[in-house]
Amino acid sequence: MKRYLTDFDTRNLPVITVDTVIAGAGIAGLSTAAQLINLGIKPLIITKKQPSVSNSFLAQGGIAAAIGKDDDPQSHYRDTLRAGRGLCIEKNVRILVEEGLERVIDLIRYGVPFDRDEQGRVLLTKEGGHSTRRVLHVKDKTGTAIGSVLYSKVKDKTDFLTNFYLEEILTVDGEYAGIIISDGTQKILIKSKSLVIATGGYSPIYLRNTSAYKISGDTIGAAFRAGCILEDLEFVQFHPTALYIEGQPAYLITEAIRGEGAVLIDEKGNRFVDEMKPRDEVARAIFKKYSSGHKVFLDLRPLKEKGISIKDRFPTVYSLLEKFNLADKDLIPVSPAAHYSIGGIKATANGKTSVEGIFSVGESSCTGIHGANRLASNSLLECVTFGYKTAYSVYTYNMYKQIKEIKIRSESAGKDILNREKRREYLIKLKKTMWDLVGLERTEESLHKALSIVEQMEGELLRYKNNRYLIDLLYLSKGIILSAKNRKESRGTHYRTDYPEEREDYKKHTKIYNDFKIKLEVD
Ligand SMILES: Cc1cc2nc3c(=O)[nH]c(=O)nc-3n(C[C@H](O)[C@H](O)[C@H](O)COP(=O)(O)OP(=O)(O)OC[C@H]3O[C@@H](n4cnc5c(N)ncnc54)[C@H](O)[C@@H]3O)c2cc1C
Repeated sequence: MKRYLTDFDTRNLPVITVDTVIAGAGIAGLSTAAQLINLGIKPLIITKKQPSVSNSFLAQGGIAAAIGKDDDPQSHYRDTLRAGRGLCIEKNVRILVEEGLERVIDLIRYGVPFDRDEQGRVLLTKEGGHSTRRVLHVKDKTGTAIGSVLYSKVKDKTDFLTNFYLEEILTVDGEYAGIIISDGTQKILIKSKSLVIATGGYSPIYLRNTSAYKISGDTIGAAFRAGCILEDLEFVQFHPTALYIEGQPAYLITEAIRGEGAVLIDEKGNRFVDEMKPRDEVARAIFKKYSSGHKVFLDLRPLKEKGISIKDRFPTVYSLLEKFNLADKDLIPVSPAAHYSIGGIKATANGKTSVEGIFSVGESSCTGIHGANRLASNSLLECVTFGYKTAYSVYTYNMYKQIKEIKIRSESAGKDILNREKRREYLIKLKKTMWDLVGLERTEESLHKALSIVEQMEGELLRYKNNRYLIDLLYLSKGIILSAKNRKESRGTHYRTDYPEEREDYKKHTKIYNDFKIKLEVD
């Protein structure tokens, strides 16, 4: 594996020096920034696109917290562990459900307009795997509502560099030293004491996914090159109900719609699964229907019979249906799509990774709170809870650190230039390989095939100079495939038809160390 993939000489680059840089302006990055600002640190935030182009702003269903009068964090804790199939890191789940409740109260105080009843009480909905109504929501635009409030809190108090990509993470003597960012025409060296990676997950590595434009997970590859341990990459959550129209993207239809009564039926009108089971089970039931030649629809009639207006309660879904002339239909064609990456950069609840000075939070990180399967609406909670905590550990880390002197020169091995079309071809081939061979169902044979395709692409791409983005995605994909190959059992979202049972000796986390050394370990 190559340590650096791009051409640069740090002595010739324009330099920005700050205390802390945050890569990513989704809810994880914005939450960390908001608390850092409270603590007196003004972070620089770099982001590929404006904050609204993120999975955070797409989140529909809501944010889970045991705020209801008959609920308590212990019950939320139990539900999270049950969904996680024995792989949750329990102490982090405890923090999530207890401190998370406090962070959700902060959001209410900051003015997030959660839906309320006539008496002003916050309304809660139910989602799969939760034993009670526990999900706060702002119609079906919860992510936008939370993200906008956080953005307005930080936007005038810190600096943003928008349309910039993180390309290289620089280390000196094994510790973080700076990053190189680029907007496609110019490169900038950012020197800082610490880096917070909040760049989101890697579900877009799959052809059919529910993700926002361009969020891809390449930074996880860059962090791996910098020495960060990656964890549990084989666990990818496939959402059961993405709109299924040939040739169109897999737009999400929130689970909350099933929580309010919509059911799943096949083309003969038969129900075939308990819609409120955890997502992996519902997604696989739908996948099996399609594999045996059936079709699957989300039946909205029960909702309408209850008097729930799709237009009022689920405006995002309604405008999606309008766009495809489905707004007056009762049956909506759906099928699963890659939705959430459970694995990522191994991090503590305070955001610390295995490399000094590099922190990670939100979907880019793996803190073990989701175990082998994420409970719905726990991820926004993760972003706000661990973002807040990460700010404190960045604060203490910075206190004892100096900005490092950096003298690094790198020359990429390749000489040729990869044009846009060729680059797109490689990207589609990779996404298709991941979808076809490393998707909802995996086997030793499919994984072996995927690995050889990925390694062949890696070999071919070495002749190109501008291959950084694709190589980082290939490193990430290789990590996912090796992790899935190594886990010879089925657990949560990871399903192997050749090993369909859970196995006690695999009740461990997959860790990938430098140069793809893979180990199963108890955390
Ligand atoms: C359609 C959809 C609906 C969802 N609904 C819910 C829900 O109801 N409840 C729930 O809890 N979860 C939901 N999720 C999951 C949840 O939205 C995400 O897990 C969460 O928002 C991730 O937040 P984040 O801040 O970690 O990353 P993101 O929101 O994905 O933000 C990533 C940020 O990093 C930036 N970035 C990425 N790469 C780079 C780079 N190389 N350089 C610079 N910047 C970079 C991006 O521009 C962006 O600003 C949903 C997800 C999707 C896709």
